[in-house]
Amino acid sequence: MIDFSLRISIFLVAFSSLMAWQWYSPRGTLLQWRQRWRHNLILLMLGALCVRLIQPVLLSIVALSNQGEGWLTQLGLPLWALVLISILLLDCLIYWQHRLFHRVPLLWRLHRVHHSDPELDVSSAIRFHPVEIVMSLCIKATAVWLFGIPVEAVLIFDVLLNASAMFNHTNVRLSPRLEKWVKVLVVTPDMHRIHHSRISEEANSNYGFFLSIWDAFFGSKRPEAMNGDEGLNIGMPGTKAYQPNTLGDLLLMPLKNFKKSRKSE
Ligand SMILES: [Zn+2]
Repeated sequence: MIDFSLRISIFLVAFSSLMAWQWYSPRGTLLQWRQRWRHNLILLMLGALCVRLIQPVLLSIVALSNQGEGWLTQLGLPLWALVLISILLLDCLIYWQHRLFHRVPLLWRLHRVHHSDPELDVSSAIRFHPVEIVMSLCIKATAVWLFGIPVEAVLIFDVLLNASAMFNHTNVRLSPRLEKWVKVLVVTPDMHRIHHSRISEEANSNYGFFLSIWDAFFGSKRPEAMNGDEGLNIGMPGTKAYQPNTLGDLLLMPLKNFKKSRKSE
């Protein structure tokens, strides 16, 4: 949210490292990657453009209206403690925001663009409708304004959230031993794949993008897929085989009605 050039550099390093990882050690064969990557990269560029246009306005509003003051700053804690609490707060907020985007029908219309990816790999992490990206930015700016979250925390959290979201969409599998330990704290690809199931009950679980503690704490954790990993059918929940074929399908998806899509809401 703050330093765009630093963020874009870290994004490129993380994205290309994960891309190399899934290239050398893929979890499964990707049959539609050419079309998916074209769509996902265009969505990334549209989203980045919206962020570039709106972010300075939002930052000015936040800076002018609270001048660094908020609930957190009144606690008088050292910076490291403020940063730690802010990261936990922001991640919990993202967890509930994600849950809300699944539960509220109008918001689900936007978020289902992300879930319409028929395969999962690192590029799925950048597949969001630009309107959802703008809404997410406004929600985060409100939290920064309300709590007086320090800029250092916003920057660190943005990097952590992006890297983690890319990691848990990557087409790789951790060794069972590593999986066991990593998922105690951080969402793994095994966990997040279940969230991308076409079965609504599975899609309405494992909402975390960075820390895995919120799903455990708020009762939405699903450690195993109903039909096992091999039986997990990735795609838009509530539909058997729907997938968008053009960029227009993706951008106009919020306006469309799907026969069975309410099942997932
Ligand atoms: Zn989701």
